[in-house]
Amino acid sequence: MIALPDSVAAPCVDFDSPTDHIAHPRRAPLMHAIPEALGSAMPELVLHIHEIDEDGKDYSFALAPAWLDSVLADANLRCDPACGAGSLAVHAQKNGPEFLVHGQLKAGLLAQCGRCLADAKVSVSVPFASLFCRASNKAMPVSLELSEDDLQREEFSGHELVLDQLVREQLVLECPMQPLCSPLCQGIEVPKNVRPPADIFGTSDAPVDPRLAPLMRLRDKVRPSKV
Ligand SMILES: [Zn+2]
Repeated sequence: MIALPDSVAAPCVDFDSPTDHIAHPRRAPLMHAIPEALGSAMPELVLHIHEIDEDGKDYSFALAPAWLDSVLADANLRCDPACGAGSLAVHAQKNGPEFLVHGQLKAGLLAQCGRCLADAKVSVSVPFASLFCRASNKAMPVSLELSEDDLQREEFSGHELVLDQLVREQLVLECPMQPLCSPLCQGIEVPKNVRPPADIFGTSDAPVDPRLAPLMRLRDKVRPSKV
């Protein structure tokens, strides 16, 4: 009988396979499609452009738990009740016909553990910067040579800069693709009635196959010799 390693004897999906790390959330392509959650909801994070001049203006917003829950529902994320409201601090500055908005975003969220499906805490604290351009004015200014990694671009129309989608996007991108409730999470326990026989496959809490016990005893007897 071939002894199977514990990882085979106790089936547990390995989420640490290399493919999970290929697309880091921060390097994911920018998503500009407006999610359902934002399509109909009234925007809550709004800057009025007539208040913003070349010197800029500071704003701070509370990210209410209800707002977080509604815009993040389709991303399988929600506000962590233990953390309460998140916060958004921004500085907005007029730059010709465009508006540079940068700031810091903080929120405590709950995601679903990728191994056991329980709640996994995700603490987000991320700086961001975005350049708002008029929807009709899509030409890139020649003087700005910034890559997507440096500066995200948004569009606006009318007299308002709406930050809801930008903030939602930052929150989603900051969440790990496989959140864990704990780094030691063992995943969902296999029910006893479908567990393979312990006398053949061993148990997951037995670190060493019992058949190797004689070798273990031999190892313990042999003292390391000094060369
Ligand atoms: Zn877990």
